Amino acid sequence: MAHADKPLEDVLPVLYLAIPNAKYSKKLGALSYMYQQHLITIFANGRIGMTYVKDRSEADQLVEEVRRLINRAIIYLKTHGKPSLEMIQAKKELTPVKIYELLPKTNCKMCREQSCFTFAAKLLNGEKTLQDCPPLESKEYSVCKFQIERMMSPIKLK
Ligand code: SF4
Repeated sequence: MAHADKPLEDVLPVLYLAIPNAKYSKKLGALSYMYQQHLITIFANGRIGMTYVKDRSEADQLVEEVRRLINRAIIYLKTHGKPSLEMIQAKKELTPVKIYELLPKTNCKMCREQSCFTFAAKLLNGEKTLQDCPPLESKEYSVCKFQIERMMSPIKLK
């Protein structure tokens, strides 16, 4: 566990819209996402939890990465204001089916999954990244890839 030096309530929606596989509950005051093999959970009160941390050195590195991410979200808030409820709702309504519709639908297995639909579900969970689907790198699918990126992370943090 780590603890930020201020409440993070306003930061959570920004992080939700910036991190492709993030899950967010305003009611619970918590946001979580997969980072490598770690489940990172950030709470509105500033607490930060991480799973599968092997030692102090890895913990320090992860905390530093989360700290930088939070600071970038704070800069976004200062320059853009709070994200709209519509943006948050649109991401909450994102499903594997919506992602699947933009994939090549060839079931070529180059992503090491049995089907494009399985890939879509794992992409949404954070078990896969868009880079794991080589066909999406081709010019033919560049618009589809862009659309998936926009749906999963409508906010880009600088
Ligand atoms: S690599 Fe892409 S196109 Fe091939 S099965 Fe996986 S998601 Fe579908």
